Amino acid sequence: TAASIPKTQKVILINETGGYDVLKYQDYSVPSINANELLVKNKYSGINFIEVYFRKGLYPSEKPYILGREASGTVFAKGDNVKDFEIGDKVAYLSGSAFAQYTSVSAEGKVVKLPRDSSDETLKLYAAGLLQSLTALTFVNEAHNVKKGEYILVYAAAGGVGLILDQLVSARGAHVIAVASTDAKIELAKKYGAEYGIVSTKEDIVTKVRDITKGQGVDAAFDSVGKDTFKTTVDALRSKGTFVSYGNSSGLVDSFALTSLPRNIKILRAGVFGYLATQEEWQHYSKEVVHLIDSKKVKINIGKVFPLSEYAEATKELESRKTTGKLVLEVPQ
Ligand code: NDP
Repeated sequence: TAASIPKTQKVILINETGGYDVLKYQDYSVPSINANELLVKNKYSGINFIEVYFRKGLYPSEKPYILGREASGTVFAKGDNVKDFEIGDKVAYLSGSAFAQYTSVSAEGKVVKLPRDSSDETLKLYAAGLLQSLTALTFVNEAHNVKKGEYILVYAAAGGVGLILDQLVSARGAHVIAVASTDAKIELAKKYGAEYGIVSTKEDIVTKVRDITKGQGVDAAFDSVGKDTFKTTVDALRSKGTFVSYGNSSGLVDSFALTSLPRNIKILRAGVFGYLATQEEWQHYSKEVVHLIDSKKVKINIGKVFPLSEYAEATKELESRKTTGKLVLEVPQ
């Protein structure tokens, strides 16, 4: 009942853009819900690199801004119009303000219902896997439809999205050329399907790509690094290859002259939400992701779990390239 909804909760928010010191773990009001919304009591939230862009101001936001884009937990309250969910249902979802104990989520939005008897481990797995699996899955279908035999360059190949791309690309019979900053990260990427590895801190990416592909270049590159790798990626692509630019871990790509693009390459800026814009797209891809995760056809590598209060520490590690796989926050109950 409404009476049992607490008035305040703990959240991670920012009042201004900046460094780690602008991250606040503090009390904040529990959101009210409208007739079409759920109030979810979060158990785990997934950390994504996008929070860094909001904190630094690369992407704009209204302040105060509660960070977080995905979580899992239990339906705690629901609006009068909501028919498809019951109080007590276990769910995982994509929605803003997820670094919080309670989040309001549209019942017609990007929510997956999980079995009611789902364990905490299952909730953790979904908080870890939902957004990044959807990213990798939509990209290998739509940003560049990966085909058997192709050579595909994957940056940050031991990261959250990277390890899932490694698996989906190799499952299609394509050759993954993994790029990562350390030997240990390349080893991990190879366990998840990468066939070749390039250690970016000591090897030249373009030279090695040319060696592997017998001078041709790769059919497509999934580039999440942005600024630092733009030119390298262009040079690594084969004639008519596809440049999928989908992140800015090193900063925003500088502007460039369209006429500077060689060899009829295609370039696009891919965003996962653009592939999940309609209910049909959401249903299609979310069902596929649930299947991939449940059947372990996609393995979600959880690098580390932090308490919600220690988000600043977690993102420090993420931003200093110390992490592999996915970072998850455990929310105090
Ligand atoms: P990761 O786990 O991949 O962590 C980031 C990794 O990027 C690091 O571990 C590091 O790997 C690599 N990296 C390269 N250069 C830098 C740098 N200058 N600073 C920090 N890291 C660097 O994070 P996520 O899986 O959460 O996200 C990966 C990327 O995908 C991000 O850019 C994110 O914004 C993007 N993304 C985009 C989406 C979209 O819809 N467009 C959706 C989801 C994610 P290494 O040490 O091996 O180089």
